[in-house]
Amino acid sequence: MNDAVVEFPLPGRFPDIDQRLHPMLALQRKAWLERGPLSPARRDEGLAGLAAALRKYQEALVDAVRQDFGHRSSHETKLADLFPVLAGIRHARRHFRRWMRPRRRPIDLLFRPGRGRVLYQPLGVVGIVSPWNYPVQLALAPLTAAIAAGNRVLLKPSELTPRTADVLERLLAEVFEPAEVAVIQGGADVAQAFVRLPFDHLLFTGSTSVGRQVMRAAADNLVPVTLELGGKSPALIAPDYPLDRAAASIAAGKLFNAGQTCIAPDYVLVPRGREQAFVAAFRSAATRLYPTLAGNPDYSAIISDRHMQRLRHLLDDAAGKGATLHVITPDGDLPDPARRRMAPTLLTDVPETAAIRSEEIFGPLLPVLAYDGLEQAWQAINSGPRPLALYVFSDDAGTVERTLERTISGGVTVNDTLLHCVQEELPFGGVGASGMGAYHGEAGFRSFSHAKSVFLQSRVNGAWLSRPPYGPRMDRLLSFLLR
Ligand code: NAD
Repeated sequence: MNDAVVEFPLPGRFPDIDQRLHPMLALQRKAWLERGPLSPARRDEGLAGLAAALRKYQEALVDAVRQDFGHRSSHETKLADLFPVLAGIRHARRHFRRWMRPRRRPIDLLFRPGRGRVLYQPLGVVGIVSPWNYPVQLALAPLTAAIAAGNRVLLKPSELTPRTADVLERLLAEVFEPAEVAVIQGGADVAQAFVRLPFDHLLFTGSTSVGRQVMRAAADNLVPVTLELGGKSPALIAPDYPLDRAAASIAAGKLFNAGQTCIAPDYVLVPRGREQAFVAAFRSAATRLYPTLAGNPDYSAIISDRHMQRLRHLLDDAAGKGATLHVITPDGDLPDPARRRMAPTLLTDVPETAAIRSEEIFGPLLPVLAYDGLEQAWQAINSGPRPLALYVFSDDAGTVERTLERTISGGVTVNDTLLHCVQEELPFGGVGASGMGAYHGEAGFRSFSHAKSVFLQSRVNGAWLSRPPYGPRMDRLLSFLLR
């Protein structure tokens, strides 16, 4: 077997980068062709090794993420970056052998006694591109699914979290050989070359705008994609629900990682006339969560100066167009912008022309919008691109059911925020502009497997009835088939 079996779309826009990437893919493709997919025993061993390495490198990862962010709460890193990966590995190791099992399928009477089954076959070499906001989870959770399904993986972590990427590279090299898993680091140029590689599947997590470019690049090689994108996830508080309870959940979900969460509530819909009451309830919830901001180890920094400026611009633009800003400074001091801490800020009376009404916020800013009846709230949600998450707060089962029926979003948490994302039994993914495909648990295993249909003909069968020479027998058969 030689490397020529891997067809590369040469020449690329970055020939020097291609020269680095192509041999890494060729190595994995060659191993695939010569040795086949990872055996169930190797998958289990690899996943167990990954869990052990994560525990070993726990503090190194927490430190690396903190340094990459400027400051990131160590508790948040453990809760949102390490715990979901370890839980996902445990779940996958417990169940992947069952997920692998071929499924018998019933066969129509006409074709019996032939038999049918579906085999779940590893796809081959999978590419994974991950973002900076949860740099461990969003690299290793898709990797867990890809390995559980028996694939080999090339991972391109975000260039905005380079120290975390270094630890990930070291950690993965201790568990997997380069023909199984390899890490490719670099900036947007490397990312662009990476997504042009002829993978057997590509999972991209990042913004909707870059997602479009990724899908375009993948299309050249007909590489199937799973796109985990962003968007504006609404929180809808129904008239029956206590504002303070909703505000407590929304504040926790919004201010976790300083709002830099793909499924953070992006804006809140409250019954008209209750905007100020919501602002007060959110302010008191936020103050309980973060009694100080500047030196508070629990409150994360904004990832970069560029992102600080982007958020600042969203506020200035909205204020300039007439919005009222409600800046929350629990201890009376505004955090030092040089340290990239941003005060939680609510916005009311935000005109539709403000950029914050259409751009994904991805920071601790929260527009509070009023609605006059649930019908109007659903319309407001449906008038924008389909969101990644939706939060509905109501104790009335009918209101919840009708909201689920009338709105489309990637996922939903009812009467809380964020938690649908950490349920291994629930597929996680977007819809429309917030993404396509899903992973977590069995959904991830299926995304990285080819469902191969197999029909097994029986020795004695009726297939001859439909073969030429056609004549009255075929006419009788057709009149039965076309009945
Ligand atoms: P991003 O789109 O800027 O970058 C993501 C990754 O894409 C990085 O690794 C980067 O190197 C790479 N990249 C950059 N330019 C590229 C190009 N032209 N072609 C190919 N790859 C390229 O996103 P980000 O700022 O790192 O992350 C924030 C965004 O990600 C938000 O929109 C957020 O909602 C979304 N997100 C989604 C999920 C999800 O699970 N759906 C999770 C986290 C973040």
